[in-house]
Amino acid sequence: MSKLYFVVGSQDLYGDECLKQVKKDAEGMTAFFNEQFKGQVEVELLPLVLNSESCIENMRKVSCDDECIGVMTWMHTFSPAKMWIKGLQELRKPLIHLHTQANEKLPYDTIDMDFMNLNQAAHGDREYGFIVARLRIPHEVVSGFYKQEKVIKRISRFIDVAKAINFSKHLKVASFGNNMREVAVTDGDRVESQIKFGWECNYFALGDVVKMMNEVTEQEIDKKMEEYTSKYTMKTTNIAAVREQAKYEVGFEKFFAKHGIGAFADTFQDLYGLKQLPGIAAQNLMGKGIGFGPEGDYKISALSAVLMKMSEGREGSTGFIEDYTYDLTEGEELELASHMLEVPVNFAKTKPEIDVLPLGIGGKEDPARLIFDGVEGDGIQVTLVDMGDHFRIICAEIELVKQPKPMPKLPVARIMYRHKPNFNIGTEAWCLAGGAHHSVVSTALTTDDIALFARLTGTELITITDKTTEADLQKLAAY
Ligand code: MN
Repeated sequence: MSKLYFVVGSQDLYGDECLKQVKKDAEGMTAFFNEQFKGQVEVELLPLVLNSESCIENMRKVSCDDECIGVMTWMHTFSPAKMWIKGLQELRKPLIHLHTQANEKLPYDTIDMDFMNLNQAAHGDREYGFIVARLRIPHEVVSGFYKQEKVIKRISRFIDVAKAINFSKHLKVASFGNNMREVAVTDGDRVESQIKFGWECNYFALGDVVKMMNEVTEQEIDKKMEEYTSKYTMKTTNIAAVREQAKYEVGFEKFFAKHGIGAFADTFQDLYGLKQLPGIAAQNLMGKGIGFGPEGDYKISALSAVLMKMSEGREGSTGFIEDYTYDLTEGEELELASHMLEVPVNFAKTKPEIDVLPLGIGGKEDPARLIFDGVEGDGIQVTLVDMGDHFRIICAEIELVKQPKPMPKLPVARIMYRHKPNFNIGTEAWCLAGGAHHSVVSTALTTDDIALFARLTGTELITITDKTTEADLQKLAAY
């Protein structure tokens, strides 16, 4: 279970009685949070910060505990912030500053100097807020009485985002082959993305995976086929082609387990030793949270794995997608997003069908793939581009819709969506911002989640929402 440490600040100026009460209140809050976030995170209270030494010790513990996804801080009393400088300098995990009180209401009839000294977050949290800002530490601040639903919801968001960042910092990405020839937006600075997001992106020879695939036994293929037939409808009679994909998936799984890999990128220009492009193999792997990027796109592969992690435990679908083609009927514009094959099964609204059909590109045997119609509802589309001197996240709000008519001749899975605030502003803003044709679409995450991820990782963010205007386009053009 992931852990969120809770660190409460005070000082020894107020005497033992006061500190006992601070500790008691902090313990009560911890118990309350553990009830609220059961199954999501375990909240553990660390010793009160009373001086620089106790702060350093706490923050070292936060930074070095692999189970720990972040730290929540709160100043019950005044806690002089120079005591926090060296500790915060040791912090390497996401930080949330909870600006709250043990009491919701002010006891007007009984309040005295002791009560005011004991409950002075308005004083202590501002002193602390200054030093976090002064140290330039990216962090979240949530204010309000800690039992209020809106406060709980925002802490819960922080937990999901911090979990994803922790996952990101441990993520290994395998690149099979290089970037697709001549493609620009899928490329990127792998040194910078490791510094910023933690992704260890390294090259692996596809031949080493193919060797593992060729060692997969008939029994292992049988087992994988059972998994496929239990989840999907077998439409094809070409079972041999599906078994070939089952072999690929087992081989990939073994390779990933051996090397601790959580995301991969390949390119159809470099699939030596494979008879088919990975279709259902890649689709099914994405369904298990493995990141995937086509055309050598390691960035979208890693980002998709991170955002799938962020959405864990929530309703909705999250996965990689490619912008493909439009219906440009005026006023009713829609986008059809899909891929050659590798549309994650996460987006299936209907029970996916396994079929084997010609691909028309890639020069391989007909691949087995999953075909389905996509989910519907409000969602976001997120991408990450390398602007040369920094990374930029672009997040657009979209509405995933039912496809207006069946597409019986389209042999791949697909989703369809409407751009916000409308087609022109939505797509023009995306292009002006330098948005890629690869993105992560999610009906589980919101712009607020992505904004917090961008803030905590110190990444530039451009959002395109219902409120984006023509004037915003001008600002983007001048960026
Ligand atoms: Mn593409």
